[in-house]
Amino acid sequence: MSAQPDAFEAALQRARVHTMAWLASVPARPIGPAVHADALLAGFAAPLPEHPTDPAAVIDELARLTEPGLMAMPSGRFFGWVIGGTLPAALAADWLVSAWDQNAGMRFATPAVAAAEEAAAGWLLDLLHLPAGSDVGFTTGGTTANFVGLAAGRQAVLDGVGWDLSGLGLAGAPRIRVFAGAERHDVIDLVLRYLGLGAPILVDADDQGRIRPDALAAAMDGAGPAGPAIVCLQAGNLHSGAFDPMEAAIAVAHERGAWVHVDGAFGLWAAASPRYRGALAGLELADSWATDGHKTLNVPYDCGMAIVARPDVVRAAFGVHTSYLITDDTGPGDPFDKVPELSRRARGVTVWAALRSLGRAGTIALVERLADRASELAAGIARIPGAEVLNDVVFTQVSVSFGDDERTRRVTAALLAGGVAWMSGSRWHGRDVLRISVSNWSTDADDVALSLAALAQAVADVDAASSRESAD
Ligand SMILES: *Cc1c(COP(=O)(O)O)cnc(C)c1O
Repeated sequence: MSAQPDAFEAALQRARVHTMAWLASVPARPIGPAVHADALLAGFAAPLPEHPTDPAAVIDELARLTEPGLMAMPSGRFFGWVIGGTLPAALAADWLVSAWDQNAGMRFATPAVAAAEEAAAGWLLDLLHLPAGSDVGFTTGGTTANFVGLAAGRQAVLDGVGWDLSGLGLAGAPRIRVFAGAERHDVIDLVLRYLGLGAPILVDADDQGRIRPDALAAAMDGAGPAGPAIVCLQAGNLHSGAFDPMEAAIAVAHERGAWVHVDGAFGLWAAASPRYRGALAGLELADSWATDGHKTLNVPYDCGMAIVARPDVVRAAFGVHTSYLITDDTGPGDPFDKVPELSRRARGVTVWAALRSLGRAGTIALVERLADRASELAAGIARIPGAEVLNDVVFTQVSVSFGDDERTRRVTAALLAGGVAWMSGSRWHGRDVLRISVSNWSTDADDVALSLAALAQAVADVDAASSRESAD
């Protein structure tokens, strides 16, 4: 007999109660966790009980043990790293995905979630103005989405020189030169290591971190005899939000026979908005694109999307054909053909739910609102004594200096200790910076005002402490 609903009822009821308590706490609690992981470990790491525990009691215990160590990442005043929140429809859909427990690898076996993901993929291509008919794979996040795009590129450029990668592997293959902007995200280097391609050849970027097409041309022409090549561009620089000049850089790359991949983990979503489409002109000419669901779109972890214009190469790279898998050859291909995993959760269903709840206008408004909040924060910060916004604020990212590195670090630490808002410390162009990423759908004007006040207070506290120190 399969499990009866009663077996789940009490535990799910408790999970719902704890979920609502957590969501109610987010707007008011200090953003940072109250304790360190080491302090929480003792509670979790009691000796493994010999005998079973009631599921509802386990959920109560889990909620109690985790509570002091949770960070208010879903807060509208969380601006650290690049971390989205969760839209209500996406969170609820994620619960259902867990309850359905579909292994989303095979179209034949799990038609409902395959169809929902294919619909979400179609909406995505339409919203971002990317080529219809591209393959969309739902990955764990931006890192794996970049992995898929660059793996497709590796497959295509070696095919192009007649090298059978699937049969022979990389050993003895013609060397693939990979070019990336000096301010690419570090995961590009990581993914290239996964792929056995070594470190990228770095190309100069301009003052906003955008790759320079003339420098790309010079690097490609100067890097020895032409051969298989991949160019990795970026839509959305971590520190400035800037977009690489797509049209010009893609032309340089394609004239030289390269595959072009775009890392748009958060910034690809700008292509949905008429306001930003000009800054991304030519984006659709690339060969592959990576983006996250769990950043700008605000679906729960983990969710990324790998978009590849040529389904044949992505399926050559990731397709698995063994007797126990029943494949669906009707066109869209099986989900497992497009991502590294065979078995996975139906994470694309949350994308369907998010887009279904927002609609086209709502998606565009979400993207534009994040950028508007970033501009408001930047304008407010510019009025704080000694603060300097270092980037042109063109999207959701703001990088700020408070004078010398020491003062910037102290202001950052004081802000985080205050608990009202969270912004990351980072380094950009040789300086310590406070970096803001507005990525949460719920950030509103009050959050902006409270965060600016908290930042002004942090600066005042640091300056008061410094003058006490110099008086001592
Ligand atoms: C976040 C990010 C990544 C990595 O994505 P994950 O979802 O964290 O794996 C890659 N590139 C850029 C530009 C990012 O912002």
